[in-house]
Amino acid sequence: MPINQIPHYDVAIVGAGPAGALAAYEVAKAGLRCVILEKECLPRYKVCGGGLIYKARKALDIDIGSAIERELTVTEIALFGSTKIYRTPPQEKPMVTMVMRDQFDQILIKAACEQGAELLEAFALKALQVKGDDVHLTDASGRQVSAKMVVGADGANSAVGRLGGWGHFEAVAPALECELTVSDVDMARFSGTARFDLDIPKDGYGWVFPKGQHLSIGVGRFFNKERINLHQSLDTYLAHLGLQAYADKTVHGFVIPLHPRKEGAILGRLFLVGDAAGFADPVLGEGLSSAILSGIAVGKAIAASDMDLARAKVDYQRYVDKEVLADLATARKLASFCYLSPTMRNWLLAKSSERLITAMTKIIMGESHYLDYQMRFMNKLKFWG
Ligand SMILES: Cc1cc2nc3c(=O)[nH]c(=O)nc-3n(C[C@H](O)[C@H](O)[C@H](O)COP(=O)(O)OP(=O)(O)OC[C@H]3O[C@@H](n4cnc5c(N)ncnc54)[C@H](O)[C@@H]3O)c2cc1C
Repeated sequence: MPINQIPHYDVAIVGAGPAGALAAYEVAKAGLRCVILEKECLPRYKVCGGGLIYKARKALDIDIGSAIERELTVTEIALFGSTKIYRTPPQEKPMVTMVMRDQFDQILIKAACEQGAELLEAFALKALQVKGDDVHLTDASGRQVSAKMVVGADGANSAVGRLGGWGHFEAVAPALECELTVSDVDMARFSGTARFDLDIPKDGYGWVFPKGQHLSIGVGRFFNKERINLHQSLDTYLAHLGLQAYADKTVHGFVIPLHPRKEGAILGRLFLVGDAAGFADPVLGEGLSSAILSGIAVGKAIAASDMDLARAKVDYQRYVDKEVLADLATARKLASFCYLSPTMRNWLLAKSSERLITAMTKIIMGESHYLDYQMRFMNKLKFWG
């Protein structure tokens, strides 16, 4: 195809998840020519618990009302193998908003398109080539677009990452989930809180997230010290929850990257955001907030740069350094303590439950960061040797 026939954009965003949608929203709002390239056709099912913590929800200036299945002001943490359950104090705002990702993601993309972004569906990125000041992106059927800057928002198996020169992730967490239609009794039993059960599976947790008419139940493993069968863990967890008969147990699985890319989030004209950058929270296994916040940050950085690549890079890097990396480093230390030292963790929980639950609540509500607790936490770790 002659070069002048390739559609050209200021910014191409690969991936129509929350990170890509928010990046596109900001870029298009600033009047830049922007295309979103998505391998699926929307709405598409997305493997995810769909628990949107308040830290992320309050960052959205898009009305997500029609995607909300339930709003929960309380979270419960249970310890597998014990009767102990810790509850967060009820919050005025929804601590966790339950969404189905097909609906949620589509609302965000629609908002970006209303700002002027274009959506190209069934575009599975297969090749990426830098030619002078442009990046050429080609899909499996040979369709091409070019852009001055590219945002890789294509999730854990990012093609932009792979094709753009990044290596493998240092750590990914495998997770399984199923959407279960349960009896009215079970629905009522689990509908009031977002529930987490630590230590099922080993080195991770199981969760029960009540949606409008069903439960989303899953298990995730954050450290892989030894091989285990995650499907067996899910079955054990379902048995432990004591559900009456349920219909249609279709299990979906995917991975959550739990370590930022060692090469950084920017290479040349390519910027990575959300799961593609490895920004998910290693304690909660939660990636929607970092997807939304990093999508907004890269979109704003590009929008404010006047299409000056160097300026956009400095601005986004500043965000990554200041808001993401240091906090994630602290969170990783906390995650290894939490999942790899369960005896000490349980002792600490029993001893200081109110302070720990309050701290976690503030992090979920977006009122504080892991980093705010670093000194206290590190001193405690030193104390225990
Ligand atoms: C089982 C499970 C449960 C989870 N539960 C929660 C939860 O309850 N709360 C929470 O906050 N997080 C949860 N997560 C994590 C969360 O799903 C991710 O962190 C989040 O989706 C990341 O958003 P993103 O926009 O970066 O990427 P994604 O949401 O993964 O979006 C990437 C998009 O890119 C598209 N794409 C991929 N490859 C290509 C390509 N080659 N070309 C074009 N498009 C492409 C994909 O189709 C997709 O639409 C869960 C993860 C798993 C696996």
